[in-house]
Amino acid sequence: MSPKVVAVDGPAGAGKSTASQALARRLGFTHVDTGAMYRAVGVLARERGLDLDDDEALGRLVGGLSFELGEGERLLVGGRDLSAAIREAEAGELASRVAVRPVVRTRLVPLQRGLAAPGGVVMEGRDIGTVVFPDAPAKLYLTAAPAERARRRAVELRARGEAVDEAAMARKLAERDRRDSQRAHSPLRPAEDAVVLDTTTLALEAVVDEMERIARGRLRLLRP
Ligand code: C5P
Repeated sequence: MSPKVVAVDGPAGAGKSTASQALARRLGFTHVDTGAMYRAVGVLARERGLDLDDDEALGRLVGGLSFELGEGERLLVGGRDLSAAIREAEAGELASRVAVRPVVRTRLVPLQRGLAAPGGVVMEGRDIGTVVFPDAPAKLYLTAAPAERARRRAVELRARGEAVDEAAMARKLAERDRRDSQRAHSPLRPAEDAVVLDTTTLALEAVVDEMERIARGRLRLLRP
């Protein structure tokens, strides 16, 4: 029997994290944010002063890492709580730079597969429906207009007390979109059997309602 996996992919700022967390709560599933793992690798590589293009050094780094998901979306790496560090704006950039390296992806993907809890998982990222769980019964691809995605990211960072230059933010997001969708290894794209949801004009509640409807239909889950 295929595992109860809801794969949620899409570009930065499409609303994946908030919507996936809410969906997991409604379904009673675990939520796994795979972007957090790439962010952690980026943050640790910077902390150790590694050259982000040095596959050997990156290989040594990821080869020794263990990831643990704690309560309330906390991420422990090698027992260390990196939850705050990975949410800084720079961590997203670092993540997308290390995420192009096959040596990093080949280590993280099996770990992500191992996180498919028996009770069901909503796993979000860029390649969940295409590479991590190509047989996932439910696949969603969330997207939104670039200006709206930049606006959402700015709101999120301001809420955390970070100063935001919106024009610079939009440029960085466009650069990250380009890097994520044009890389050779596991590029960002909707799986052929994914349902694409454009969230540009939708409120969060409506997005989660639609995701729940699709997930329950595909997984043949009854409403509580
Ligand atoms: O989702 P989030 O913005 O936290 O992801 C940070 C970066 O990690 C992405 O821009 C992408 O480059 C990378 N990523 C990935 N594959 C995933 C999840 C994230 O390449 N499954």
